Amino acid sequence: MIERYFQYQADLAVTESNMLCPEDCNAPGCQMADVIVEVSLFDLIRLSLALNTPVSSLFLNHCHFGFQSCELNRRYLSLLLKLEKPCHFLQKSGCKVQGFKPLNCVLFPEYHQIIDLRPELAKRPVFNRFPCLKSEIAVSNQRSQALKKLKKMSKREEALSRYFLLGIPSFIIDSKPLAKQLKRYSMKIKSFTVRDYDRLLKEELKTTGLFDGIMDKIALLDTRRQMESFFSQLEDKTLIRSLLEKMARPEIVFRLDGNRLKPMKRHLQRPEITSM
Ligand code: SF4
Repeated sequence: MIERYFQYQADLAVTESNMLCPEDCNAPGCQMADVIVEVSLFDLIRLSLALNTPVSSLFLNHCHFGFQSCELNRRYLSLLLKLEKPCHFLQKSGCKVQGFKPLNCVLFPEYHQIIDLRPELAKRPVFNRFPCLKSEIAVSNQRSQALKKLKKMSKREEALSRYFLLGIPSFIIDSKPLAKQLKRYSMKIKSFTVRDYDRLLKEELKTTGLFDGIMDKIALLDTRRQMESFFSQLEDKTLIRSLLEKMARPEIVFRLDGNRLKPMKRHLQRPEITSM
């Protein structure tokens, strides 16, 4: 089942694929920490099978937990698994794992063209160095359908991965107490970047028990039997529907209180802005 699933994704990824990266592109998306690439456990399993490397080792060497601005409300941050930057799979000749790279790498930038987000991304300073965003990208109808299918699969995989690791499909935290904490170290700074919050996550949030048992869970996926059991949950339509609903409309946010994370009821409203 696992190989068939990944083969299906690989076929979708090359469907009418005509996009060539511009010659003057030096792969900023693969290098810049500010350009977040979320990876799911399914991405790690795909890489694990292709590279014959345990999932736990890929996790330790290529990823870290980090934050992203919550697209539902900028006061909050979403916790996710990020690809390490500069990406260790980047070589002079390009991506070393081209045929089995994370789905978010496959989708960029054509999917953003399909959903009309490319012009908005091009205006953001962080994407200044992306020649591929400067003009319209031609995407055939068939390719558009294939990428939309991959995006749906990617959403399900992210929801299930977060649920497996953190017990909920969307871990959202209030940035205000975190900013207070950061201000203790840098009194003069008024606003903080996602990278500042990531540093705090590495240094302080670990003491809250947030990541207790994470490595044990990931190590389970080093065995074929556990991989298959994890995959079988993708077929549980009720579970997946409920995770996707909770991901789209989270009702719990966490707040740092001393060295505890307190869950609080909140209904997050979708603002007009969207993020990548
Ligand atoms: S996996 Fe490949 S495409 Fe994705 S960030 Fe790394 S080098 Fe770039």
